[in-house]
Amino acid sequence: MKRIDLHTHSTASDGTLSPRELVRAAADAGLSALALTDHDTVDGLPEALAAGEEFGVEVIPGCELSCESDAGWMHIVGLWLPEHPSGLVEAFKWVLEGRKNRNHDIVAKLNELGIDVTYEEIAELAGGVIGRPHFARILHQKGVVETVQEAFDVYLGTGGKAYIPKRKLSPERALGLLKAEGATAVLAHPFMLEMTVDQLEAKLRELMDHGLDGIEVFYTEHTPEQVEKYGRLAEKLGLLVSGGSDFHGEVKPHISLGRGRGELDIPYELVERMKASRRDQGLPV
Ligand code: AMP
Ligand code: ZN
Ligand code: FE
Ligand code: FE
Repeated sequence: MKRIDLHTHSTASDGTLSPRELVRAAADAGLSALALTDHDTVDGLPEALAAGEEFGVEVIPGCELSCESDAGWMHIVGLWLPEHPSGLVEAFKWVLEGRKNRNHDIVAKLNELGIDVTYEEIAELAGGVIGRPHFARILHQKGVVETVQEAFDVYLGTGGKAYIPKRKLSPERALGLLKAEGATAVLAHPFMLEMTVDQLEAKLRELMDHGLDGIEVFYTEHTPEQVEKYGRLAEKLGLLVSGGSDFHGEVKPHISLGRGRGELDIPYELVERMKASRRDQGLPV
């Protein structure tokens, strides 16, 4: 069976493999198609697409948008982005500027708490976009916490001592941006919304009115029951089915590319269905 992974991160956001290394890893893992879906950036896409040619992997250019809604935070994956998604790039600049301010604020809070960290050392560790996982790694390296998870529980997580909220897009705006680029829009890891089936169905209908095309049914953290539940919802609502591991490399060592914790097995058929839907809409594949 041809297998795929439509949710992955590289060093362009908070992953630890470069886009090229990621595509090579996909080839090594025997994947036929890979979507690079870095958080709020498309910077890794040219390198990933070139590596796709080099290693014989179908690379689908994507991104993962972080949104804030009444239901809490929500992630939306866009697939088949154009070469120059200028509207998205503008929005990312706005988000990135907010993230930069936030990172400085987190450093200030940690310093206030008597923890010796500098923006420069976090930036050096991150290489690309700085996020809370990098702060967690520094706190761990410095022995401030015993585990990376403790860094989130005590300092960086919601309500933590150095928690700073993030500037985010609304799901409606994110979907509007993606549709304007001709992308296929997928609700990522629906289990994180912690909704009942009825609540999720209502939310999906609302998002579909704004252009949502699909839902991530296969995901590392989804139980077999959740896979079935989300699959049934997709069928009922006529949504496309997507699936990915959310691979991040060493920062999430328990997740392997295409395999998640070992149980993921995402068929290429999903890509075929998405492409058929795109062709029907006159969109490029
Ligand atoms: P950021 O985009 O900087 O807010 O970082 C988000 C990332 O931090 C997520 O993708 C997770 O990997 C990680 N993260 C956020 N909250 C927690 C938490 N409570 N426990 C563990 N990891 C978390
Ligand atoms: Zn991430
Ligand atoms: Fe996500
Ligand atoms: Fe992700």
